[in-house]
Amino acid sequence: MRVIVLGSGGTIPTQTRNLPSFALKRDGELLLFDCGEGTQLQLMGAKLGFGPLERICISHLHGDHVTGIPGLLMTLGQSNREKPLTIHGPPGIDTFIQSIMKNLSIHLHYQVHVAEIEKGLVHNNSHYRIESVPADHNIFTLAYAFIEAERPGRFDVTKARELGVPPGPLYRALQEGKDVRSGDGRIVRSSDIVGPPRPGRKVVYALDTRPCSAVVELARGADVLIHDAMFTEELQAEANERGHSTARQAAEIAQQAVVGQLILAHISPRYETAKELLDEALSIFTETRVGEDSMGVEIPVHK
Ligand SMILES: [Zn+2]
Ligand SMILES: [Zn+2]
Repeated sequence: MRVIVLGSGGTIPTQTRNLPSFALKRDGELLLFDCGEGTQLQLMGAKLGFGPLERICISHLHGDHVTGIPGLLMTLGQSNREKPLTIHGPPGIDTFIQSIMKNLSIHLHYQVHVAEIEKGLVHNNSHYRIESVPADHNIFTLAYAFIEAERPGRFDVTKARELGVPPGPLYRALQEGKDVRSGDGRIVRSSDIVGPPRPGRKVVYALDTRPCSAVVELARGADVLIHDAMFTEELQAEANERGHSTARQAAEIAQQAVVGQLILAHISPRYETAKELLDEALSIFTETRVGEDSMGVEIPVHK
């Protein structure tokens, strides 16, 4: 599973930072968090392709997070795409998408499902689920958590062999949690052979937001937290007034939520390099990096 930064900037794009969009690639499926202007070009640049795109989770209806949607929908319309695309977002997203389609005369041969949500479960399947909470911005904004399903525990083949269980259907039964009878008639318990379930990976996306306890709870134990870090502490009052966080505040959230790593995002165009932001966050939380466009972050499975 990999997170790819498509747009690490905020408010207005710069030569080096596009507007917010983060891709998540898992098992040939592609998801987007937000779709700022230029997202389709960034997707092409990252060689992620459009085919695997299944769903887009929109945080809120500020222009810098949604202006990439019309172009992306139209480009998808030029392909031979037949499978539907799902767009999740806060109340108002449906009207927004419908008005784009109507006013720009976009006619697509694939379906666009729009699902509005205020909080809670966004999507659930056998591989993963997506949850949301309201963040703390100047308009209604959602933070999202992508949470993989647990994987079955580790299967101890050596022990199974020692206890006389032949490979085949009995292995499968043990893996499914069933106790079996070995070749010599002894009961072999699943719990003797199969370890505890292994947790899935978790990625949390929280842009645009002031520091907020709901995000701490959502992000608890995440492998990766992508968090608003628009300014440094010097501009804390302005950041919070505008519904954003500083790099230090993002790092404090990461520390409280005990995440694996923090990616600073929604970097203000005022910073030519993000060194100040990084140094500030690193003084609180060492596993921090600044989101840079086209950067990929590999998230290994839990052993
Ligand atoms: Zn924004
Ligand atoms: Zn905003």
